[in-house]
Parts: sequence; structure tokens; C-alpha cells
Amino acid sequence: MNKSGNNNELKGIRGSILTFKGNPFKESPERCCDFIKDGLIVIADGQITDVGEYQIVKDRNKTLDKIDVYQDSVIMPGFIDCHTHYVQSSIIGSFGDKLIDWLNQYTFPVESTFKDKHVAETAAKVFFRQILSHGTTTANVFATTFEESVDAFFEESMRYNTRMISGKVLQNRNVTRSLCDKSAEESVEITEQLLKKWHGKGRQLYAVIPRFAPTSTPRQLRLAGELYQKYIDCGVYLHSHLDESVEEIKWVSELFPYIQNYAEVYDCFGMLDRLTVMAHCCVVNEYEWQLLYEKNCAAIHCPSSNLFLGGGQFKYWEAIKQPRSVKVGMGTDVGGGTGFSIIRELADAYKVAMIGSHNLDAIHSLYMATRGGAEALNLDDKIGSIKPGYEADLAVINLTPDSFTSWRLNNTSDIFEKLFALISLSPDNLVSATYVAGHKVFDRADTSQFCYSPDCSD
Ligand SMILES: [Zn+2]
Repeated sequence: MNKSGNNNELKGIRGSILTFKGNPFKESPERCCDFIKDGLIVIADGQITDVGEYQIVKDRNKTLDKIDVYQDSVIMPGFIDCHTHYVQSSIIGSFGDKLIDWLNQYTFPVESTFKDKHVAETAAKVFFRQILSHGTTTANVFATTFEESVDAFFEESMRYNTRMISGKVLQNRNVTRSLCDKSAEESVEITEQLLKKWHGKGRQLYAVIPRFAPTSTPRQLRLAGELYQKYIDCGVYLHSHLDESVEEIKWVSELFPYIQNYAEVYDCFGMLDRLTVMAHCCVVNEYEWQLLYEKNCAAIHCPSSNLFLGGGQFKYWEAIKQPRSVKVGMGTDVGGGTGFSIIRELADAYKVAMIGSHNLDAIHSLYMATRGGAEALNLDDKIGSIKPGYEADLAVINLTPDSFTSWRLNNTSDIFEKLFALISLSPDNLVSATYVAGHKVFDRADTSQFCYSPDCSD
């Protein structure tokens, strides 16, 4: 892996550009997105300083001479994966079990190996290469019980200078002994130490992560909720799972018999708030949607995982029903999810929507993958759009990734038809380059393909 480039010089990226300035689920879709056929993005110090029609922007930036040019491509904001587990990368595609059995059979054994820092470092390297090669530049990621798994993740993120959210998983009951926190008090003390070590270091952000209600005692949930509230004004997140399957909800009602709704369990421990991110939310009642809305929480749609584990299906139009529309992001949920590509998740989201007699066109889908994800993570003032002042995280979509796809795309009349067909086909080599804070960290055409940020100190 080599390092190249200087992030401080003015840099340009030329090609077709697609970005969003509003939510097409709430406003006219045409007014929410900007598509520029021949555009130019200017970057300095990792941030976008100018964007628009090529000639106009070029004339405004006379000192700009280094320009990367992408033909037959669309440059988009880097994709945002709002829920995944890097520690489960090696169990994608494990056969035959539903959620609770799947955790016992596959998840807990592999996560137990992450006490070994070398195992964690190897998995982090693999994970970053996978997500960057699919255009994902920000992810909200579960590590596991061990500090080693948190350190290895953030250390690799620092090397790429990616904006990532992660943290130690809190779990002190109903997990295999090797993953079980020794005590609620100690687990939260370790979490606070890790938070102080990583939150705000470079572009890294910390999340307090109880795996889900069944694997924490009420005391651990209470202490975790207090920690979240102590640091929420510093931008620390609360990340967990909610209402993934009927069996899980039944289990929660047995463990917390004095609480009526699953979402209320988190609420009574101070965990529902504006930086709370809840994965799945498939089997949600109206009371819970109202609660998530009132507390300004985000629900994360993970279609490939929900289909693979057969738990339930996210009802997008239910989640965003007015007047209590809940923020929604997309998640791969590796390893229940079957891949690292947010574009492939959009293909599955379309199928899930169709089962519910809705559809998702390219504008709505790509909003969900970019600005929608940034809104769900409350980062929409920094990432998810191509706009001056925003961090220069970009994905370059190749409109001619292979001969069949090129041939198929000839049979389309406009860019949005092309993009919809590309989402549906989700070819592996769809993304030709990925930029993080203005630096090209993935280049499919380059022999080494991956390149750490020149800003990293390693
Ligand atoms: Zn998950």
C-alpha cells in the first residue's frame, strides 16, 4: 500500500455530478437533486470549495491545474452505511438460521476471536477495502466486546482518514461467556475510556453500543444510557438493534415484563434521543413509531439482512408517514446482510418496497444512500452532499462497468433510467474510484487499488 498526493493543494474532479439538496420523499423529487452533465468539483484541505458547470467553475478557479477526469461516469457523494458489523465480515452467507440461533451459531463464535488484536486488525483491513471499493465512505459500525476490536477499527480508519462511527459492544448476559462483560460498571468504564480515546480524533466518532436489550442487564442499560446522556452534546451516538423479528420481541417482553413495548425499554434507560440509531425496526407498532419520532431517533433499513435472516420487513412508507416521519438510513448489516454494497441494498430495498406495493426510483434510492444517510446520522452539515464547505467524500459510478451492462444501458432514455438499471444489476465493479477527504483512496484501474491518506501519521 502506497501513499501519494498532497491534500493541501487545489484539486479538481471533472465528470457528471449527482447530488441532493433536499428530501424527495417530502418535496418535489426534481427540485431535490442536482444533476450536472459536465461538472467540476474543486477541493482544498479535504473539503469541497466549489462545484458547478465545468467551464464556469474552471474560470472561477484559475490556479486549478490538477484535474481527475471521469468519462461515462457519475460522481456522487460517498455512500453512507448506517448499520453494520465489521467483526462479522468472515461469516457473511452462513447457512440456515434465524436471528437468535444465527447469533449463537455463527456470530458469537467469530466475535470471540477478536480479543486477539491481530485478528481484529486483519478483519478491519478487509472491511475497509470492501466498503471503499463499493463507494462507502462513512459507516456506523459495531465492533465487539473487546477494546482490541475498537482500537483496530479506528486505527485503520485513521489511516484512510474516513469519517467513521464505532465503539465497544456492551453485553453482560445471554451471550457466550467469552464475550460477556465482567460487570456493568466495568464495561461502561471501559466504554468511557475508549470514547475519550477516539471520539473526535481526526474524523472518528464514538457510539455507545448495547448489542440489543436481551443481552444487557437493566443495570448495564441504565449505566449505558447515563453515559450516552453525559456525552450526547459532544456528538456521541447510541447505536443498537430494535424490533428485528417477532421472536426477538417476544424474548424482550419476557425479560422486561413490566415494559409494554420494546422501544420503551430503551427509552426508560435514557437511550432514545437525537443521536440514537436503531437498526432494523421491522416489526414496529404505532406507539413505537411515535416514540421514535418524538425522540428524533433514526431507523435503519437493512433489507438484505432482513431477507437473509427471514425476521421481518422494513416498512419504509410506514416509517416516514406524516406527521410523525422518522429519519431513515440504509444499512448493510454485515454479516446478516449479504454484502458490503449500499447500491446492492438499494436493489433489495426496491424489492421489499414492491412487496408492500410501493416502488423506489433512482432519485429516491440514491438520496437514501447519501444525504438520507447523513440526515439519519445527523451529519448532513458535513457529508452526504457535494456542496462547498462539505467534506470531499466521493464515489465515482462507472456507467460502463462491463460489456453487458453497457449494452443494457444503451436501451435507456435518460440518466435516471440508467442509474436505476445499474442499481438493479449492482455489478461488483460499479465504483471505479472513491475519494476520502479529497484524497483518492480507491482506484480500480490502479495496480495497488488502495491507498492510505497522505494525512495519516503511520
Ligand atoms: Zn446488526
